[in-house]
Amino acid sequence: MPKFLCVQCGTQYADSVSEPLKCLICEDERQFVRWDGQEWTTIPEMQSNGYEVVPFEEEPGLWGLELNKPFAIGQRALLVPGDKGNILWDCIPFINDRAIQMVEDKGGLEAIAISHPHYYSTMVEWADIFDVPIYLHAADTEWIMRPSDRITLWEEESFSLTPDIELIHLGGHFDGGSILYWKQGAEGRGSLLTGDVIQVNQDRHYLSFMYSYPNNIPLSCNSIKRMVSKLETYEFDRIHGAWKERFIWENAKERLKASAKRYKKYLEA
Ligand SMILES: [Zn+2]
Ligand SMILES: [Zn+2]
Repeated sequence: MPKFLCVQCGTQYADSVSEPLKCLICEDERQFVRWDGQEWTTIPEMQSNGYEVVPFEEEPGLWGLELNKPFAIGQRALLVPGDKGNILWDCIPFINDRAIQMVEDKGGLEAIAISHPHYYSTMVEWADIFDVPIYLHAADTEWIMRPSDRITLWEEESFSLTPDIELIHLGGHFDGGSILYWKQGAEGRGSLLTGDVIQVNQDRHYLSFMYSYPNNIPLSCNSIKRMVSKLETYEFDRIHGAWKERFIWENAKERLKASAKRYKKYLEA
């Protein structure tokens, strides 16, 4: 039975004889339904349309994976070096034999962890192929469109995957919105991988905190304050957002505080 993917957001749904009636992720006010109406595809159809996974080095020792041409939201995944392989941070909506080999050549996978439902995409497909668990925050359970025994829901404020890799719950964009703290990142000064729970702006100098990016719905000052204060005790110097090379390369902790201050200035004006 086919497993359909939404063309607009890249979310893969569970087995179904026919296309699902609608995409709940796109119907949510944080996303939008395709202007020409809901459309679906499958991984085999994407394969015949020439999609491939392309690797790139995001920072020394941190590889990224993205698609060779635009599809859905357009996020990339990252391979964070773990203890017994890599942690796949966030997921992309496609996989094929070449992509599997590429990941194996880079040390394989140890686990998958995802910041929020917009990037769940084909996580179960990846987990089944690599025989690894998926870690998601329990507050976003309702947004899992393809359930699987491989999914572990964590409820704590933070969750250690390895001695050097920790998931931190921030909320905001989604109730379960989480980021990944990589202690060895930024040459040992620490990197945060934030997806769009904290978005790196186009100027790569400021960060954004939004309930919806495509529909421009802001978060409250209190939510932003809560998110930023949870990071106070962490040592980090770099932040990677959700797209290739969308990073704040250094002084990221200071930039995070400056960004929250700027939001407060405009939201409370
Ligand atoms: Zn969708
Ligand atoms: Zn999002």
